[in-house]
Amino acid sequence: MLAVERVDAPIGPKTAGLERAIGQRIEAVTRRGKFLLLPLRPASAWTSPLPAGTAADADAGGDELVVHLGMTGVLSPRPPVAHLRLLLRLDGGRPDVLYVQDARRFGRVLVVPRGDYRALPTLAAMGPEPLGDAFTVTAFAAALARSAQPVKAFLLSQRPVAGVGNIYADEALWRARVHPASPARALSRPKVRALHAAIREVLAAAVELQGTTLYDYRTVNGEVGAYLEKLDAYGHDGDPCPRCGTPLVRSVVGQRGTHHCPRCQRRARSDASARRRRDRSMPGGAR
Ligand SMILES: [Zn+2]
Repeated sequence: MLAVERVDAPIGPKTAGLERAIGQRIEAVTRRGKFLLLPLRPASAWTSPLPAGTAADADAGGDELVVHLGMTGVLSPRPPVAHLRLLLRLDGGRPDVLYVQDARRFGRVLVVPRGDYRALPTLAAMGPEPLGDAFTVTAFAAALARSAQPVKAFLLSQRPVAGVGNIYADEALWRARVHPASPARALSRPKVRALHAAIREVLAAAVELQGTTLYDYRTVNGEVGAYLEKLDAYGHDGDPCPRCGTPLVRSVVGQRGTHHCPRCQRRARSDASARRRRDRSMPGGAR
């Protein structure tokens, strides 16, 4: 049975409805992108069996605890030395306490009606899981074609695909030789295909190595993520491109620090779909 203690977590939108979790139990642990989704069930529903013939109400009603660790959040069974925001007591659980530590306070721990993500627009509009079957080249191309945003900013929105954050966006774009500021819809089909493959490769490798620790991130066992050693582009401004030797440059795209190779990653100059339309309408247009 859950109990919640706010240590340094003022009541506000980032912890909305949290007290509703008190006295409930966590029914399952699931994930979408970087959101942890923990459906809750009132403790009474576990001890008193449902009357015969009543449908188990797993999907009808009920609450859901949603956790997003932001940039610096850590969820750990061990008490942190600093920046403890709140703790979740899991009566009868192993571990029996989860500590929420968050230096920069970008994380969120809140309770919503199950499946109702109106308070979490990023989650509500989130694209398919990057390593799942629904993330196809066709679906990815269709999503990109709908956006004039810089492709990196569009990736960070989580709409074309879930789970690509700042580090892995830079890595995937570098690997696919796509300029981060190219308009999403300007990518040629071969670039879309290359970026699709690169996202899968980068995320699969990062999961394998338990992520990337820049500052605070720790695995659930308190270890650092080892993908830091594998980064080709992110954080390497001024270093030679591992592919061509040109010094990598840092810029800002979508308000985020961005790293790319000015030689390997050329910016798509114009809108590819507009160019195709133009070509089709011109007699003897380039083909
Ligand atoms: Zn290069």
